[in-house]
Amino acid sequence: MLTERIWSGNSLRNFHYLIACPETGEALAVDPLEWRLCLDAARRRGWSITQILNTHEHGDHTGGNAGLKAATHAQVAAHAGAASRIGGVDRGLARGDIIKVGRTVELECLDTPGHTLTHICLLAHTEQPALFCGDTLFNAGAGNCHNGGHPHKLYDTFVTQLARLPEATRVFPGHEYLARNLEFTLDREPGNPDAQRLLEAARQHDPAAATVTTLGEEKRINTFFRLQNPTIIARLRAAFPDLGEHPDAATVFVKLRELRNRW
Ligand SMILES: [Zn+2]
Ligand SMILES: [Zn+2]
Repeated sequence: MLTERIWSGNSLRNFHYLIACPETGEALAVDPLEWRLCLDAARRRGWSITQILNTHEHGDHTGGNAGLKAATHAQVAAHAGAASRIGGVDRGLARGDIIKVGRTVELECLDTPGHTLTHICLLAHTEQPALFCGDTLFNAGAGNCHNGGHPHKLYDTFVTQLARLPEATRVFPGHEYLARNLEFTLDREPGNPDAQRLLEAARQHDPAAATVTTLGEEKRINTFFRLQNPTIIARLRAAFPDLGEHPDAATVFVKLRELRNRW
């Protein structure tokens, strides 16, 4: 499997991805908003885009479908429950479906509600696994839930699906928010050494060359995976005095999400 991450350079800080078969050069474009950039990247690599995948229905992930489809005749795939809202979807996806790209690439569809209720993450079971996670999981952060999502569902997705993936899984989100998210981590857990170290690098990064984290790293730097951390809980209790001595993990997650919304 060949992967190219494409930095949009737009104000929303979108990342697009091309996932290609090394034998046939067929490629899948993930959330190709700035579709011309995707087309240029594919041409440079000698790939042909035959499929488009929208992780979810928001316009900053689907807005390039029409242009890219017109240019390539690619087939569009998205969560079956989001298809009517996206329009022009050729294949509706459900949990466990496999997307094949060329002869060698197989991507498993995870049904990951929370940011919206119809969100797909793609998991590549490659030697080092890769997760294309749209707006569900960001590097050092979690998607918001105020445009059709639900924080309890996002919590379930984090705990029952994402946290169980192999630690070596590379995390390829839909936006570049690393420095801002690390600042939130350090606001909640000021002494986190991994977050401190990575923030220094992230502030100097060209976003096009931003760090690709692994799930193992996320568990060290991402507040939304650190729901049992005593510092995080103590500081949360300072913000929400009604929280009680031993809040359950779901409550910690939802309150962190609430704080992040206004942070
Ligand atoms: Zn979104
Ligand atoms: Zn987005």
